[in-house]
Order: sequence, then C-alpha cells, then structure tokens
Amino acid sequence: MSALAFTPTSTTRRVADDERARILADPGFGRYYTDFMARARWTEQDGWGAAELVPFGPVQLSPAAAVLHYGQEIFEGLKAFRHPDGSVWTFRPGANAERMQRSARRLALPELPVADFLASLQAVVAADEPWVPEATSEESLYLRPFMFASEEFLGVRASHCVDYYVIASPAGPYFPRGVQPLVVWITDEYARAGTGGTGAAKCGGNYASSLLGKREAAENGADEVLFLDSETHTSIDELSGMNVFALTRDGRLLTPALTGSILEGVTRSSILQLARDRGLAVAEERLVMSEVLEKLGTGEITEMFACGTAAVINPIGEFRARGGSWQVGDGGSGETTLALRQELTDIQYGRIPDRHGWLTRLV
Ligand SMILES: *Cc1c(COP(=O)(O)O)cnc(C)c1O
Repeated sequence: MSALAFTPTSTTRRVADDERARILADPGFGRYYTDFMARARWTEQDGWGAAELVPFGPVQLSPAAAVLHYGQEIFEGLKAFRHPDGSVWTFRPGANAERMQRSARRLALPELPVADFLASLQAVVAADEPWVPEATSEESLYLRPFMFASEEFLGVRASHCVDYYVIASPAGPYFPRGVQPLVVWITDEYARAGTGGTGAAKCGGNYASSLLGKREAAENGADEVLFLDSETHTSIDELSGMNVFALTRDGRLLTPALTGSILEGVTRSSILQLARDRGLAVAEERLVMSEVLEKLGTGEITEMFACGTAAVINPIGEFRARGGSWQVGDGGSGETTLALRQELTDIQYGRIPDRHGWLTRLV
C-alpha cells in the first residue's frame, strides 16, 4: 500500500479534445506535456508528504535552491503502452522504482518507497488517460519521474528539502521511417563516469558531462558517442544514455559487466532474459574496444546494438574514431537484433503473452 495519495488538489483546464488529437497525430518526443503532474515533498523533519496531483506547469524554486548549484538530482524514464483492448500498461515499473532508490542513495537524496513511486505513475496516467496514444505503430506516453534538492541553502551538504515530480509526454514512434542503424563515435577525449563516481546512478550530472562527447560525435558525422572506461580508456562502458550489446557468430550475446560506472538499464536486463530464452549464451564481461573492432573485421562479431527505454533497441551500423571507421556486419540492422526488438515491443504492446510478468496495468 502506498502511503502517499496523489489526489487532485485543483481542477484544471484540460487541453481541448481537438488540440490533443492534433498533438497526438505527430507528438515527436519530449515536445508536449499532459494536463497533470504528480508531486510530493520530503523534508528532513517530516519525511515524505504533500502528495498531490496538480495541473502541469512551472515549478517554483528559490534561486538559491541547492539543485541549481550542486546538481543534486536524479530521474527515471519509462513508458505507458496502450493495448489493443484499450487498457494501459507499463513495463517493469518496480525495476525503475528500485533503481531510483539506488540513484537516490548515491546522490544523498531520500528514497521514495516503491509503492509510492507506483502510485504516482498510476495517478498521472489515470488522470491523463486520453493522452495515451493508440498504438498503431510504437506510440506511447513517456513518463518522467524526477527528484531534486529544493532547499534554499548555499552551503554544501545533502538538501533538507527534496521535491519529487512525475511529468508525462506523448511520444511518437522512435523510428518513424523504420529502424535506422546508428553511427557511433568512440571518444578518446571524454569519459562519462569514473570509479567511485555516479555512473551507476541515473542523474542529470552524468548527462551534463556527456554533452561535449555527443557534440564531438555530431562533428564527426556520428549519431551517438560511446564512452570507454575512464581509467584505461580500453573497455566499453556505454553510450550517453544507452547500454551496448555485441552478438558473436557462434551465438553469444555479450554486454559490459556492471562495474559501477555503467547504468543498469531495465531494457538491458530484459534483453539478457529474452536472449537466454531463445538459447543464446549470454555473458556480462569486460569488452575491450580494440578486440571488438578486430572481431568486427574478422566477422567474429556479427551484430551490435544499443538499448534503452526510448529506442528499445537501436542497431549499430558503424563505429568511428580518430583512427578510422569500422562497419558492423553489412552496416544494416542485424537479424537477431531485430528479432529481440520485435519480441520486446510485442510484449510491451500486449501482442504476445507476458510470460515473465513484466507488465503492470495502470488504467
Ligand atoms: C536510462 C539509461 C539507460 C537505459 O536504461 P533503461 O532502463 O533501459 O531505459 C542506459 N544508460 C544510461 C546512462 C541511462 O541513463
């Protein structure tokens, strides 16, 4: 049972039906927001409270709020899917709730109980049900829970006041023109996380530190940046917001082990399970970049892909670095990559049985 009740505290002017229909016809990603948001506040003195469901709108914050100066902030990302019978479901929300607790511990933020995290999603999606798109291809309602230090205090210590929010944004298909393989730039200049740092936490700071690497990738004609481990610059960590996999010719699916500098993706863990189910040998281990590039050359590695909630699975078609470029397979989307993607999205959209019990009904 959730202790927090995210009850509506005011009526809101909803976006008109025709305006919402116009937005849902082409929502893109992260451009439009729903009518409501959930929020709650934690104070050192009283713990969690002040839960409410309010109209989506600006957050009032002191210019001296700790988050604006010291970056004490974490977030989550998950989706609500409309099933063919009209019901609305989300995917493994308990995993996101627990990850948010781990992120909170690392950033010295208070842990939100799992039941309260689930209740906040339920409240927003129930109120914003008309915003969950019909899934004609891969539309969804993207849910963004986040938490930040809101205390007005410029001293450096963990904030005594923390605000939690959930906002929601309708999302169109990630690949409107079919799955597009990524060109990935391997940066030798930047790292996203170091030993003992915040790499395993889903925090805004990791993204801030990834932006120059992403810009470097774009300057080199690439879509995404791949970060190597910060100590030796030899093994694969991950992209700025996606985990990385490689498939070998002899049917082994490899992904970097969770060393503390990698974010543990819910998509990553689901793929490991689906791969085991289909008889692939899976291994979480150190992936040395130079060896991977060599094995792409010999054909020993046949497919590679990145994964995360937004894209689900995005094939990697090519790597680029200062030293050259390396094609993955034939540069297109690998067969196993696409099969895993199909299976995972089929489960999410209720097109095949949910044999692992990954779905939670929201509406
Ligand atoms: C969120 C995130 C991922 C993907 O996690 P999912 O739970 O699969 O969405 C991967 N890497 C980073 C750095 C992330 O922030």
